[in-house]
Amino acid sequence: MSDPFVVVGGDAAGLSAASKCKREAPDRDVIVYEKGDWISYAHCGMPYYVKGEVDSIGDLLSLSPAEVRERGIDLHRNHEVLAVDPERQRVRAASEDGTVEQSYGDLLVATGARAVTSPIEGTDLDDVFTMHHMQSAARLRAFLTPPEAADDSALDAGYVDLKDVGAYFDREPPETVAIVGGGYVGVEMAEAFRGWDLDTHLYQRSGRPAPPFGEAVGEAITDTLADAGVDLHLNTAVEALDGDERVQRVVAADGTVDVDCVLVGIGIRPNTGLLAGTGVEFGESGAVSIDEYGRTAVDGIYAAGDCAENVHTVTGEPDWVPLGLTANRAGRAVGQTVAGTPEPVGEIAGTAVLKAFELECGRTGIIDHERAREAGFDPVSETITAGSRSGYYPGNAETTVTVVADRASGRLLGGTIAGEDRAAVRLDTLAAAVHEGTTVGELERFDLAYAPPFSPVWDPILVAAKVLNGHLDG
Ligand SMILES: Cc1cc2nc3c(=O)[nH]c(=O)nc-3n(C[C@H](O)[C@H](O)[C@H](O)COP(=O)(O)OP(=O)(O)OC[C@H]3O[C@@H](n4cnc5c(N)ncnc54)[C@H](O)[C@@H]3O)c2cc1C
Repeated sequence: MSDPFVVVGGDAAGLSAASKCKREAPDRDVIVYEKGDWISYAHCGMPYYVKGEVDSIGDLLSLSPAEVRERGIDLHRNHEVLAVDPERQRVRAASEDGTVEQSYGDLLVATGARAVTSPIEGTDLDDVFTMHHMQSAARLRAFLTPPEAADDSALDAGYVDLKDVGAYFDREPPETVAIVGGGYVGVEMAEAFRGWDLDTHLYQRSGRPAPPFGEAVGEAITDTLADAGVDLHLNTAVEALDGDERVQRVVAADGTVDVDCVLVGIGIRPNTGLLAGTGVEFGESGAVSIDEYGRTAVDGIYAAGDCAENVHTVTGEPDWVPLGLTANRAGRAVGQTVAGTPEPVGEIAGTAVLKAFELECGRTGIIDHERAREAGFDPVSETITAGSRSGYYPGNAETTVTVVADRASGRLLGGTIAGEDRAAVRLDTLAAAVHEGTTVGELERFDLAYAPPFSPVWDPILVAAKVLNGHLDG
């Protein structure tokens, strides 16, 4: 083992890197340390598992430990890497059996992010959940399931701590839940809780849910949540969670609500503590600064995924938008680079989609005018609503599109979309245009597909570009 590639973190970025390196350079030793039991899991599917739409938690797993080992990767689960020594090119990992030291030729830190719960008081009470760990999702689904419907096969993943989860199966299911935070996790979880018929309160500090999706989408989500029976507390900060061992009340600026459980989704922070003092640099977000190949400021150390920043394709500046494709793609690129063929990790546009009950929402690029101005643009935007199919064809649904452009150059800076009929998929047209630095005039002339069951002659994206372009011309 002279020149091993060592990876810290056994999920999206880490295992993508390990797999790619082993495939490209089969003779190289590739060693992965994962601090928990779980590897190769889909965080993104957890709200749908909790809702019961995904039957088994095992369905959220991609690769088993055996499959990872079959790829020739030396996987060590339940090994937490505690220290990195860049001088000696070694890491120290701890497990139940003690501590091991491992040398590396290249090191990838792919430690992800963690859910924050501070500064809200009482988040350590029982029955307060976050949605950043599979065990937490398993507990919550068990808690929501009525005892007579309890089904062990929902937990057939093998890594679930059954004793811990079993205690929830035996309890009366909650009737009232509060969600603290109206970001995408909060909105997805509102759908999950309403799916179990819970009285659901959603608290959001600002005036609309999912702030990164902008005003038009925020308003559409607000209406959708209200129609679905979610009790929205907008412009309302939660002051404390209160109870005797178990959470029993939410204390907020607009009063106190009795609850049986709470889901806190107020944001995440990058897991970068491991690299403190190593010479690796961090951006304003606290995530690791990397170059276009995922290299940190320290020779031989790479970072990828939720713990790292990436260059935003519109501003050209580092940004932190922790999402799944970014992690998989950057990990894969690092794997290829350390195998000998440098591959850029790619730029990001902050492209994200979100399902709020039947409403599909999306955003890409820079949509906030202040942010656009800070980046040196003169933003101008238009919001339109158009049909998703020919008006006479069944299934036609109103689709709201916002496009933002730079007044001087006409360059498309970003956009958002909301609608119930394939709006999320339509967003990708905008994302591609943002990546290519397309002007709204060029976007207006895109040759998009048309047939009545799929689109009107003028797709909503084309309508939005046309209207904004007219505005720019004027
Ligand atoms: C509820 C939820 C829904 C989401 N939905 C979407 C979605 O719809 N679309 C989307 O694009 N993204 C979504 N995401 C985000 C997406 O899941 C993440 O961007 C992605 O998982 C990041 O991958 P990663 O490998 O960087 O980090 P992680 O998946 O967090 O993996 C990091 C791993 O490192 C391990 N680790 C940490 N520290 C150490 C250490 N010191 N030693 C050893 N191991 C360590 C951790 O245990 C963990 O397994 C969602 C996330 C959540 C929580």
